[in-house]
Amino acid sequence: DVLNTEGADFASLLLTEPVQRGLTLAGFERPSPIQLKAIPLGRCGLDLIVQAKSGTGKTCVFAVIALESLVLETYSTQVLVLAPTREIAVQIHDVLESIGQAMVGLKCHVFIGGLPVHEDKQKLRKCHIAIGSPGRIKQLIELGVLKTSSIRLFVLDEADKLLETGSFQEQINWIYSSLPDNKQMVALSATYPESLAQHLQVYMRDPTFVRLDVQDLSLKGIKQFYSVMPQMSSMSKAFQAKTDQLIKLLSRVPFHQCLVFSNDQGRAQRLSEDLNSKGWPTAYISGSQEQTQRLNAMSQLRNFQCRVLVSTDLTARGIDADKVNLVVNLDVPQDWETYMHRIGRAGRFGTQGAAVTLVYSGKEEGRLENITQHCRLSLQPLPNPIPSTLI
Ligand code: ADP
Ligand code: MG
Repeated sequence: DVLNTEGADFASLLLTEPVQRGLTLAGFERPSPIQLKAIPLGRCGLDLIVQAKSGTGKTCVFAVIALESLVLETYSTQVLVLAPTREIAVQIHDVLESIGQAMVGLKCHVFIGGLPVHEDKQKLRKCHIAIGSPGRIKQLIELGVLKTSSIRLFVLDEADKLLETGSFQEQINWIYSSLPDNKQMVALSATYPESLAQHLQVYMRDPTFVRLDVQDLSLKGIKQFYSVMPQMSSMSKAFQAKTDQLIKLLSRVPFHQCLVFSNDQGRAQRLSEDLNSKGWPTAYISGSQEQTQRLNAMSQLRNFQCRVLVSTDLTARGIDADKVNLVVNLDVPQDWETYMHRIGRAGRFGTQGAAVTLVYSGKEEGRLENITQHCRLSLQPLPNPIPSTLI
């Protein structure tokens, strides 16, 4: 079981007192298996490639390694963490602050595009751990405000996404070459495609792999369903059928919070307006929004000001909102990785959840079949009427 560590506790990891206390205060009583395996190796200074399913606690792995590595007396930046989306960067920051809450004087800051650079300069006067998106971090190093000479640990969260072709490769290469030679690297990912292996070979010396359950891609706590609607000649009618089915689902199933994923920004936005007008407090997030709007949508979700968040694949990965127990795919995602990441948003850390994919008969249905075959998933047809016990 990916979450059962048979009574092992954090004390067995011989952490320093403030970190140990921070974990307790953060509500982390026992390490998850990936934490139990990876933290001691990381603390030895090894370069690590950590691969474990979504929701198994990878953030805490590098948070503990990072916090334990700091010399708090000097305010130079000693750890650099890169994340593929700004929202994940903010979330990592919150976890570091939470686990680091008993460390007096600890300074962790987030650096992301869309927010003013002059504030970043201020933050960098005292910053032990810098977390950011590749674009902004590169910019700050170029400007000479983020000094790299004291960086001893370089973390790539969601490394497969960061190093995917056409994404941040060039920026990360540039950042990497601006760092001291003598540094530790930790890369974390739920999947480990060949392309990632090739990239990491360039960066890491003889990395140690820490993997859990790579064969079994399924996320045990999450029940998966699909619902087929007829493909109609009128796109707007067809879309209405999906919207109606979604509303039926929201009305029937007692969920805490729901994430709805769409492949299309425009449709996501229209759906969110539609849901709001029908009395479902709904927020909308996509990469085309201003950064402040994006942060606002995320905080609405976390503060329970909305029940539903409609999103593009911007939030498919890495986002951890512990009240989300229902995920709806308004469209079948383009690839199986995205499917796994999306449904992983329900059922964090082994909790129960449900994922429902709404699919048009024909081509889209074929795409879903490819995904389920590839991942050996068994999806059930959504029962009609929808039972209130779905989750
Ligand atoms: P991953 O990055 O592997 O997808 P996260 O790091 O986002 O997973 O963690 C998923 C959830 O599990 C978070 O809500 C986190 O607070 C919780 N969690 C992680 N480790 C522990 C632990 N040892 N004890 C209790 N909860 C934990
Ligand atoms: Mg993560």
